[in-house]
Amino acid sequence: MRLLLMGPPGAGKGTQATVIAERFAVPAISTGDIFRTNVAQQTALGVAAQTYMDAGEYVPDEITNAMVADRLAEHDCADGFLLDGYPRTPQQVVELDEILAIAGVGLDAVVLLEADPDELVSRLVGRSAEQGRADDTEPVIRRRLEVYAAETGPLADIYAERDLLTTVDGLGQVDEVTERILAALTSVSAQRTATSAP
Ligand code: AMP
Repeated sequence: MRLLLMGPPGAGKGTQATVIAERFAVPAISTGDIFRTNVAQQTALGVAAQTYMDAGEYVPDEITNAMVADRLAEHDCADGFLLDGYPRTPQQVVELDEILAIAGVGLDAVVLLEADPDELVSRLVGRSAEQGRADDTEPVIRRRLEVYAAETGPLADIYAERDLLTTVDGLGQVDEVTERILAALTSVSAQRTATSAP
């Protein structure tokens, strides 16, 4: 299973990515988590990413793409993966297409988790109290939502045109949302089986 999980900050991608990846026994790869680990360890990658992250901006494509290419080349990704928070720009879509084409594989589905913008801000403000993330202050949250709307939201159309996109309501209890995602993936795979039948 090769999946992408997209959606605005606060939609619950990280939580759902972990659960869904476990169900399909594939690694959940969160570019945000990889960056945060590198920032915490002050590696060269972390130092390069930190100013962008703290401001709510995207880390430049060259840096992000190289990191994802390395991660997807690891053995545990050979039979599948769930990418959480990548791709986020048109250039990242191109990079991922190239990585997959070279490997001779394709995506199975792209899940877009949707949520109301006011709900997103309140969830993120709540999370900042729990997790103390440097980019969960209100002005940075607003900037992250703006950047998402301008740069990443439009990418959904690309995957919709490829018939890979399935949109899921991200509001509600974690388990309810997980069930919605699993149901959406089941229906995508049933449709694909039906259309590919002779
Ligand atoms: P996230 O945990 O997915 O909300 O990501 C936290 C931050 O990491 C983002 O606000 C960006 O600064 C950076 N980041 C994560 N993924 C990407 C990506 N695909 N492209 C650029 N920056 C990213």
